[in-house]
Amino acid sequence: MLKTSLAASIAAAALLSAQPAFAQSPDEMTWTRAGDTRRIDFPITAKGERVLAVDTHTHTVFSDGVVWPAVRVWEAEQDHLAAYAVTDHLDYQRYKADVRTGDDHNRAYEIAAEEAKRIGAKVLPIRGTEITRNAPWGHFNALFLKDANALPVDATMNLDPRPALRAAREQGAFVIWNHPWALPGLDAVADPMPAAQRGLVADHLVDAVEIANSSQYSAVAFDMALKHDLAVVGASDVHGPIDVDWQIPEGQHRTATLVIARDGSGAAIQEAMAHSRTAALYRQTLYGRRRELDEIVGGALRVVGRKRIESFLTKDVVELELRNDAFMPFQLRFAADSPLTSPRVVTIPASGKLVILFANVTDMEAFAPKVEVLNAFVDPRTNLILSLR
Ligand SMILES: [Zn+2]
Ligand SMILES: [Zn+2]
Repeated sequence: MLKTSLAASIAAAALLSAQPAFAQSPDEMTWTRAGDTRRIDFPITAKGERVLAVDTHTHTVFSDGVVWPAVRVWEAEQDHLAAYAVTDHLDYQRYKADVRTGDDHNRAYEIAAEEAKRIGAKVLPIRGTEITRNAPWGHFNALFLKDANALPVDATMNLDPRPALRAAREQGAFVIWNHPWALPGLDAVADPMPAAQRGLVADHLVDAVEIANSSQYSAVAFDMALKHDLAVVGASDVHGPIDVDWQIPEGQHRTATLVIARDGSGAAIQEAMAHSRTAALYRQTLYGRRRELDEIVGGALRVVGRKRIESFLTKDVVELELRNDAFMPFQLRFAADSPLTSPRVVTIPASGKLVILFANVTDMEAFAPKVEVLNAFVDPRTNLILSLR
């Protein structure tokens, strides 16, 4: 978010007042993970596609961030992201007197791209910008730009953003409506998308909604994305060093977007995002459509062993060995088949295994217990349901 300008103070105030209404607090129990890795990774899906971690929203000293663009490359590389977008504010530069760019809005990206090449980074910087408007418009990230300087700048931050969004569109950009809950009044009507943004969606100028930003998640934003057929994204919107916002060595991770793509190239990531092949990753919880969460969580959770157990007390006991190949734990609630010796709700650790016994299983090979994944949401009120196979 734009942190310091006078113009943004209204938005910031709205954000603070909106926080109790929209922010949900996920289970703190899951908010640390074992191991010392900074990696955000998931196994290949059943269809052979990759699940890539992408940060769609970052700042540097070229707008109101406090780090040099090359540092963002090191951070993203350390976090094993597939890609991250350089999205400094187009219309606002806090350090204009110190960082003299001659209004070159490509410069932060170019420094990042040069640095990525210099250190042989695997992470891919994406050329982007944040089109910044006061209420009623809000902030919009344009990703995969070819030339950020072709976009009209609005130093007043009050004008209709359409000319800037159209200029981004002409370059084939992917456009995200950022942190919608920074705008007031989103919970006042049945359809919470305000008229201004509905107009932009009708004009095909918005592709996605940021439903999680930094340390905030919005159920209203998630609903809007689903209802208006827009992609779901999450992002760090980092302004300082990434390790100031998150205790990553202790097991936390930055808020990010998972993209299901055929490979890690920029073209594949862009195509996947354009097809809404995304989910938001926020505090070890996934938010997305059923199709994507099925593939992501279904690819991570596998039954790797099943055998009959002799028991004098109970009939037809089967032992299932379950594996989780994701970097994050999953909380599972068994829907119908109650485990014999475990509670109905279990946590399978990150990159870990769990052995669970079930009774009265006559057909062991076909046995596939249904679970609700308590830290995966297909809408703000509904958990993903999976059959364990
Ligand atoms: Zn921002
Ligand atoms: Zn913003």
